[in-house]
Amino acid sequence: MASSTSAPRKVVIIGGGFAGLECARKLANDERFEVTLIDRTNHHLFQPLLYQVATASLAAPDIARSIRQILENARNVTVLMDQVKSISPEEKTVSGASGSTYHFDYLLLAAGAKTGFFGNDHWEDNSLGLKSLSDAQDIRRKILSNLERAELTTDYAEREKLMTIAIVGGGPTGVELAGACADLIHRSLKSNFRRIDTSKLRLILIENSPKILEHYDADQSDYAKSRLTTLGVEVWNGMMVTDVLPGKLEFKDGSHLNSRAIIWAAGIAASPLTKHLGVETDRAGRIKPNLDLSIPGNPNIFVAGDLTNMRDKDDQFVPGVAPAATQMGAHIAKLLKEELRLETTKFADRKHDLRPLFKYTDKGMMAIIGKNHAIVKAGSIKLHGFIAWIAWLLIHILFLIGFRNKLSVLLGWAYSYIVNKPEARIIVHPPAFDSINPVLKSVDQSRPQSS
Ligand SMILES: Cc1cc2nc3c(=O)[nH]c(=O)nc-3n(C[C@H](O)[C@H](O)[C@H](O)COP(=O)(O)OP(=O)(O)OC[C@H]3O[C@@H](n4cnc5c(N)ncnc54)[C@H](O)[C@@H]3O)c2cc1C
Repeated sequence: MASSTSAPRKVVIIGGGFAGLECARKLANDERFEVTLIDRTNHHLFQPLLYQVATASLAAPDIARSIRQILENARNVTVLMDQVKSISPEEKTVSGASGSTYHFDYLLLAAGAKTGFFGNDHWEDNSLGLKSLSDAQDIRRKILSNLERAELTTDYAEREKLMTIAIVGGGPTGVELAGACADLIHRSLKSNFRRIDTSKLRLILIENSPKILEHYDADQSDYAKSRLTTLGVEVWNGMMVTDVLPGKLEFKDGSHLNSRAIIWAAGIAASPLTKHLGVETDRAGRIKPNLDLSIPGNPNIFVAGDLTNMRDKDDQFVPGVAPAATQMGAHIAKLLKEELRLETTKFADRKHDLRPLFKYTDKGMMAIIGKNHAIVKAGSIKLHGFIAWIAWLLIHILFLIGFRNKLSVLLGWAYSYIVNKPEARIIVHPPAFDSINPVLKSVDQSRPQSS
């Protein structure tokens, strides 16, 4: 039986996303634990607003916050920026790219997921994903640079490719991105160019299944599709991508689409670190943990968030969303505290059997479809249109207040968002001019005929 004077337990948390950060927060200042949180970045990222960085409505720092700063008052938590390369469950160690080794009594692997390409590695080279801040900045740079190149080129075929944006994947990420792209191009930038007509830009959302937003009811999915169509987005259902080549998508029906901006929002793959735990994973590399969130065969290693695939103790599916990750992180912290308490009681030998089991509380889901329109599904409540958009705005403003310390900065964003003036449209790292447009002809100063 451990006494109250035992050395603090070493808890290593890999990942400062929603799951890892919540676990660290809940263990903060509990001297029974010595927590080390390792993340390869120095910031916690609010991924639900990534598409706004990609479409120039928000700047990168607006949706990220230093993990060190968030945990500055947690005396027992050490934050380290390192990329974890391997985990040894037997030796109870984690190794980082820095060459450091971290020992643990308890490990939480919460390294999230990355964009998944169904094993087609070259698709990744020929498209852009949306998972990190640099992904979002790459998409923004691509969209804005392509418009600049289209304004320059006199080659009509090339201009057409530059003015075609293909988004693959009709889930929430693809739908929200398509709506925001349409707002950016057809509203905010519409009077910014002189040679090209931005209303001619083709924005195409490609989805393999017959409906977009498949986790929503059919009427909400239909609403989203008709909103996107009104915004000028072509929604292609039932189109299966068979190859992603440089500047070209190929489909199962033999057709193809040329585009200089292919965005891939059609799949995720769990962090490759799941492979180090020696347990079974699904096709996306995700782990099915025990109901207490420990991994099969090892009660001291836990997994949480996007790299899990599980049903909770009531057999309810746990989706890959931020509230689920947060709840998992909180559950593990609570479990660890209770376990240490039990060690000082006569139930010490049964501490693993007495662990609480994870229960997911579904807080509903929402997706925004361009400005002023959204859909919300929360239990039996279903909303769409402006009222749903107001609900979306309020919830995200509440989240962002936690991120951005200054209310004035937040109000600045709200103002430019509402009046359609995205402020973050500067191209900081333009592509090299000699390589971006090999077909570039000498510049014709006159305005082109409409093509
Ligand atoms: C574009 C987009 C939009 C989304 N919209 C919504 C939405 O509207 N609502 C919603 O609820 N959810 C949304 N999600 C999903 C939500 O963001 C995720 O479910 C949530 O972030 C999962 O949390 P997590 O802690 O598992 O992983 P993450 O938040 O991804 O955190 C993982 C952390 O691990 C770190 N890491 C990874 N590998 C390593 C390594 N080897 N070494 C060290 N650190 C590492 C990463 O840097 C990251 O900080 C969206 C996701 C995306 C990509």
